[in-house]
Amino acid sequence: MPFIQKIEQQITADPNLDHEYQWFLGIEKFNKLAPRLILGEDSPALLGGRAFGSQTLSGNGALRMATEFLVRHLNYKTVYMSNPTWDNHRLVFRYGGFTDLKYYRYWDPATRGVDFTGMLEDLKKAPKNSVIVLHMCAHNPTGCDLTREQWTMVADVLEERNLFPFIDAAYQGFASGDLDKDAWPVRYLVDRGFELFIAQSFSKSMALYSERVGCLTVVLGEGHAQDAINMSSQLVLIARAMYICPPKHGALVVSTILSDPALREECDLCIMYLLRNYRKKCLKIMNDRIQDMRKALNESLVKLGTPGNWDHVLTQLGMFSFLGLTPRQVEYIKKKHHIHMLSNSRANMCGLNDKNVDRVAEAIYDTVVN
Ligand code: PLP
Repeated sequence: MPFIQKIEQQITADPNLDHEYQWFLGIEKFNKLAPRLILGEDSPALLGGRAFGSQTLSGNGALRMATEFLVRHLNYKTVYMSNPTWDNHRLVFRYGGFTDLKYYRYWDPATRGVDFTGMLEDLKKAPKNSVIVLHMCAHNPTGCDLTREQWTMVADVLEERNLFPFIDAAYQGFASGDLDKDAWPVRYLVDRGFELFIAQSFSKSMALYSERVGCLTVVLGEGHAQDAINMSSQLVLIARAMYICPPKHGALVVSTILSDPALREECDLCIMYLLRNYRKKCLKIMNDRIQDMRKALNESLVKLGTPGNWDHVLTQLGMFSFLGLTPRQVEYIKKKHHIHMLSNSRANMCGLNDKNVDRVAEAIYDTVVN
């Protein structure tokens, strides 16, 4: 993103930039600002000191840190993931220490949408004190999110069964193009009084993949601000045991962008305010392009008379589309047309452009009819 380059130039031009060790849990300013992006500027949990952020090695590092804490200090053994989920979840949760890895139903191949009845049934059967991983928005790989009403019903089950919500927030802004709207499920759970963990990633939202910028946000219940202090000292030990401290550069970029506009004015850095708005615009441009490609692919498939219903290509959210091809069909499209996707037919919509979208549609048509 162009504005990231500008900020990087500014950071690296600073003669006082050093390469000292950072605090084990990263940059203080970043730890204040990153949770605000998800929980909201006026979050009572943050203002009351019962929620706090720790800089991590991106979203994956946050997942790993939280897992270690849940297993080591809270004795959780069972974790539930959506079926399907992001490939790495299983690996992180197993290596992090969960001994019982389970799935709740999520994808319904018949409707090519969320199997909400199956999901609720499975959550209702989950043993009490299980950890439930929920994608905040733009679910990877299906691109299908819960509606607000469905989130409410999931929250009821979590409450009834004493299940612990563990939120994976890797795509804030990618579902609706609006950061606040996409964070609604988490804010709702926090308003309802849940204690939870959030694994937040800036890989996608700021295109900082290799910089490994993320945050583990912990939200505790009312009256537990003291526990927040105790917990953060345990997180220090986990970070020290794994990598000592997270890297500085990417977190400096992010905290520069997220900085409070008033503070920025004070420091005569009003320009940052403009850049922050520009960031929102960039996200919108990326999001709009993905939507355009979804539309183009859907139109092309329909125009060709491809058997089946292709509405899901339009309605799914985020970067990915779960096309609904069988593993045999995926093999066919790879071998014959050299179009690649996961064997469960998760395709990255960002790979489409005006020049290739019709060719992809023709290949899908050929695959389906053969
Ligand atoms: N969670 C989900 C659902 C993802 O899709 C990804 C990346 O693709 C991540 C977490 C972690 O990404 P990172 O470690 O780069 O922040």
